[in-house]
Amino acid sequence: MKVAIYPGSFDPITNGHMDIVNRASKIFDKVIVAVLINGGKTSMFTLEERVELIKDSLIKNEKVVVDSFTGLLTDYIKENNIDVIVKGLRAVSDFESEFQMATMNRKLNENAETFFLTTDMKYAHLSSSLVKEVFRLGGNIEDFVSKPVLNAMIEKEVKDE
Ligand code: ADP
Repeated sequence: MKVAIYPGSFDPITNGHMDIVNRASKIFDKVIVAVLINGGKTSMFTLEERVELIKDSLIKNEKVVVDSFTGLLTDYIKENNIDVIVKGLRAVSDFESEFQMATMNRKLNENAETFFLTTDMKYAHLSSSLVKEVFRLGGNIEDFVSKPVLNAMIEKEVKDE
């Protein structure tokens, strides 16, 4: 049984993330989508909201579970017997930081292998931060996020006014 973890901030989950989860679930026996608790970044959604939005967005698939974690990814994978870290690659710019991260993770835990899936070109332009920016400026983001995410963003904006 091969278990993969797909870590990220998912603030919020986009259709690009969802595509990676679906494709990874065809390769591995179990995929843990894990939301990072990232103290440094200011986020639009709380950790609990991000977890809920992932659950509400993903097509029901018994191979996929959602979790969150704090601290080092390499510690989490050791404690939970995870075989592989899954990452998505959109562009050359992603490669540089992901390469660094994968190398560091292997230094911290020699069993920490990273598996890269290249983006579907439909989603190559998508990032959570760009989606939030387009939304704030009044652009249409229906093609980029699920209905639950869109509704949650509209709700947040109404509250902030
Ligand atoms: P973002 O970069 O959108 O803020 P995260 O930090 O949550 O997202 O990203 C988690 C992982 O998902 C990273 O490996 C990132 O490269 C990947 N990813 C994000 N958006 C896409 C996309 N549109 N297509 C493929 N992979 C993606």
